Amino acid sequence: MKILVAVKRVIDYNVQVRVKEDGTGVVTDNVKMSTNPPDDNAVEEAVKIKESGKAKEIVAVTVGEEKAQETVRKALAVGADRGIHIKVDGIIEPLAVSKILQKIVEKEKPDLVFMGKQAIDDDCNQTGQMLGALLNWPQATFASKIEVKENSLEVTREIDEGLETIEVNTPAIVTCDLRLNEPRFASLPNIMKAKKKPMELLNAKDMGVDLKNRIEQLKVEEPPKRKAGIKVASVAELVSKLKNEAKVI
Ligand code: AMP
Repeated sequence: MKILVAVKRVIDYNVQVRVKEDGTGVVTDNVKMSTNPPDDNAVEEAVKIKESGKAKEIVAVTVGEEKAQETVRKALAVGADRGIHIKVDGIIEPLAVSKILQKIVEKEKPDLVFMGKQAIDDDCNQTGQMLGALLNWPQATFASKIEVKENSLEVTREIDEGLETIEVNTPAIVTCDLRLNEPRFASLPNIMKAKKKPMELLNAKDMGVDLKNRIEQLKVEEPPKRKAGIKVASVAELVSKLKNEAKVI
């Protein structure tokens, strides 16, 4: 079995994101960037499946600027076998990413595509679903547990009401939740070894894909500042304020 894992480079989740003064976006210069957190879970799950003997090869793929290669190298350092970097300049939207990934899937013919449930920069939660639609493959989104069977997967999904277990035939797309596993750290020797693993370099412009952005970003603003809270002396005062001032009860 071959697993393709899509990893995206985003602003590190610990960074306090700042809006540019001219409102054209957020500051990314000299800001720590990392792999989108659920994409680390996707890589970890693929590595675990390979370690269990059920997969032979893991290919990590990213679509992004030159430095996006770092996310592929990180995936290689924790167990992926080879990488693909599709270069694009500037912002690329989920529809274009999924069309590029469709081309990669058609070429690589994986049995599974693992992705994150959502990218923490655009918060879109679209790319996996769009790829599923383009390929006409079954999809299991928000996976918090995956069991590999003969020609299918049993996937437990995080949904509003709790957990849902579904079975999907392979080939399939799975988008991974943070609860799926605990991603391992890359050891220094493995980081060094990863530098020698093969990385295919492609340019999105040469792939015959419509890369046009559909969304026009008008302005980026800080959220309104929240007013400071107050301390009440008693439960009675709290109830009175909720009733008479906030008028919520
Ligand atoms: P999104 O639909 O933007 O929330 O992204 C969902 C998932 O799609 C991410 O967690 C990644 O696994 C994958 N993905 C999105 N954009 C990219 C990209 N530029 N390169 C590689 N994978 C991506």
